[in-house]
Amino acid sequence: MILPVYVYGSPVLRKKSIPVDQNYEGLHTFIADLWETMYNSDGVGLAAPQVGKSIRIFVIDSSAMESDDPSVKGFKKTFINPKIIEKTVEEILFVEGCISIPHIREEVSRPPQIRIQYYDEEWIYHDEAFEGVPARIIQHEYDHLEGILFVDKIPAIRRKLLNGRLSAISRGKIDVSYKIKTPR
Ligand code: ZN
Repeated sequence: MILPVYVYGSPVLRKKSIPVDQNYEGLHTFIADLWETMYNSDGVGLAAPQVGKSIRIFVIDSSAMESDDPSVKGFKKTFINPKIIEKTVEEILFVEGCISIPHIREEVSRPPQIRIQYYDEEWIYHDEAFEGVPARIIQHEYDHLEGILFVDKIPAIRRKLLNGRLSAISRGKIDVSYKIKTPR
């Protein structure tokens, strides 16, 4: 089922999400809904808070970004209760967008390599290192679980220039092809 996407200004996007356990009611249906909602909105990743649930789950399928980085081909994963345990110290800039902040794209600085521990949808534990576009998308989605949005990470001067557009989004004054849920 396609779920409405909560947009900028929604309190749920600012909450720290809690871990889920294997018996979480409707877990598999919810994950299937995340995939369907993500594909419907042309996103490459979607975190549970973006559909109004403060739980630590996100899904990623970055195959649409193959032209930016051929290594993303076939990178499709569910992350449950993820923990980023290592990051490189240096950071690099890369343009990001977010289906909760439609039509805004900005360069964001992040470490190019990370190591993350997580469970997949079969509840299998993984401890893996990622780099390039996958590492970038993982960090963006992971931030959603912490109540952080990519626009929090851009220089104050850029952010100031976006204030009007961000406020328009929070009032639902945007044209998008998918169903959204605005704070008011
Ligand atoms: Zn996002």
